[in-house]
Amino acid sequence: MSSPVIVWLRRDLRLSDQPAIAEAASKGPIIPVYVLDDETPRHRVMGGASRWWLHHSLASLDATLREKGSRLILRRGKCEDVLPRLMEETGACEVHALRHYEPWWRNAEKAVAKKLTLCLHHGNYLAPPGSVTTGSGSPYKIFTPFWRALNERMPPPEPQRRPQAIAAPDRWPKSDDLDDWNLLPTRPDWTGGLRDTWEPGEEGAKKRLRAFKDEAARYEGQRNLPAVEGTSMLSPHLHFGEVSPAQVWHAVSSEGGTVSTFLGELGWRDYAQNVILQFPDYGTKSPRDNFDSFPWRSGKAAQQDLRAWQQGRTGYPIVDAGMRQLWHTGWMHNRVRMIAASFMIKHLLIDWREGEQWFWDTLVDADYASNAVNWQWTAGSGVDSNMFVRIMAPLSQSEKFDAAAYIREWVPELADLPDGEIHDPSPVCRPDAYPDRLIEHRAARERALAAWDKAKG
Ligand code: FAD
Repeated sequence: MSSPVIVWLRRDLRLSDQPAIAEAASKGPIIPVYVLDDETPRHRVMGGASRWWLHHSLASLDATLREKGSRLILRRGKCEDVLPRLMEETGACEVHALRHYEPWWRNAEKAVAKKLTLCLHHGNYLAPPGSVTTGSGSPYKIFTPFWRALNERMPPPEPQRRPQAIAAPDRWPKSDDLDDWNLLPTRPDWTGGLRDTWEPGEEGAKKRLRAFKDEAARYEGQRNLPAVEGTSMLSPHLHFGEVSPAQVWHAVSSEGGTVSTFLGELGWRDYAQNVILQFPDYGTKSPRDNFDSFPWRSGKAAQQDLRAWQQGRTGYPIVDAGMRQLWHTGWMHNRVRMIAASFMIKHLLIDWREGEQWFWDTLVDADYASNAVNWQWTAGSGVDSNMFVRIMAPLSQSEKFDAAAYIREWVPELADLPDGEIHDPSPVCRPDAYPDRLIEHRAARERALAAWDKAKG
C-alpha cells in the first residue's frame, strides 16, 4: 500500500469542496488530524463559545469519516512539533492543508513547512486572500472597490463533491480522546441556549443552507430586521469551514431573484481576510495614529459600565436585547451588533478592544478577521471606516428597524409594554426590574464628541 498522506484540518471541517482532502485522498490512504494548540505564544486561544462549537464539530466530522471507514486523529501541542512526529509514526510522506490567514496560522504554516512537505490549498474564501489587487498590484484597503474587483472574478469554481472513497492507512496512529480536551464548560454549563440554537458540523451547515436558499430573495428586505429570521445564520458554519463560500454562492445563486446584497456580505468576509493579511495586528491595533492616544474611559466606573453592557443591563432595550441574545445563543443579529458595538464605544467611551474581546469569547462565529474589521469599522479606527463622529442613536434605530418583538423575546421585563413604549420606556412605564440608563443619549454624544476633539488635537 502507498504511504499515507496527512490532512491537517483547522477551520475547514468538512468533506465536500475541501481541496486538501480531495487532493490527499486521490493519492492514497489519508490520516486526517486536528491539532489543538493552546501553547504557542501569539496563538489566540479560542473563546468559550468557539470551544463548545469546535467540540461538536470535531465529533461530527469524526462520525462522518467513520461512515467512510476513516477517522479523525486528535493531537495536542505545537503544530510544528506534532505534525513531524505524526509523520514519523505513520510513515506519511506529506501534509495537505487549506491555507489560513490569521497571523498565528501563517506563522504555524511557515514553521511546519520548514520541517516537512506542506502542500497548501485554497478553499475557504471566494478568491485567495491577497489575490484581488488594484491595477498597480497593491492590495485594496477599502471595501467597495475590493468588492467590485472580486465580483468581476465571480462566480467561484463549482464546488467539488466529497470524495467517493477515503482509503484508511494500514494502522491508525493513537488519538487523544475529545472529552479529555475539556472544550465543553461544566461548572457551570452555560451552553443550553447554544444547544437549542445550533447543530455544529457539515450536516447542520447543509440544513441551514437548504433552509436559507428558499428565503434568499427576501434577504434584501429583511436583513436589517432583528425580529425576523431574515439572514442565513451560516456564520459559525462558514467560520469553522463546515461549508465553503463557493457552496453557499452557488446554492443561493441557483434560486434566481435578487441575491446580490447577500453575495456582497460574503464579499465582506473575504475583505476582512484581506485586511488582516495587510495588518496582522488588526485585532488589537488601529492603523490610525490618533487612536493610540484616544481618551477612553478606564477605572471603576468604566469597568462597571462594561459589565452592565456585557450583561445586557444598560437601560437601552435594543442594546440589552442584543447582548442577552449573544449570551444565550452565541450569536447576535448584525444590525444589533452594530448598535451594541457603537453603544459600547461611543456612549460608554470604552476602548473597542474590550468589545472585540467580549465578542471573541462569546460568539460562536468569533472570527479574528471579521470581528476586528467590524469593531474597527464601528469605532472609526480602521482602514475602511465609519467615522467616529457618526454616533448611532440606539432608540431611533430600534424603532426604525422594528425591534419590538425582538426586545420582547430577549428582555422579558419589558414584554408587557406596548410598541410605542418598548423602544424607549418612559420613567412611568419602566418596570422596576429594568435598569435605568447608564447615560442619556445627548450627554453621551457630547462626551464622545469632546473625546474625539481631544484625540484629534
Ligand atoms: P448573513 O447576513 O446571512 O451573511 C452571510 C455571511 O456573510 C455571514 O455568515 C458571514 O460569513 C458573512 N458576513 C455577513 N456580514 C458580514 C460582515 N459585516 N463582515 C464579515 N462577514 C460578514 N461576523 C463573523 O463571522 N464573525 C465575527 O466575529 C463577527 N464579529 C462582528 C462584530 C461586530 C461588532 C459586527 C458589527 C459584526 C460582526 N460580524 C462578524 C459580521 C456579521 O454581524 C455576521 O457575520 C452576521 O451577523 C452573521 O449572521 P448571518 O450568518 O446570518 O449573516
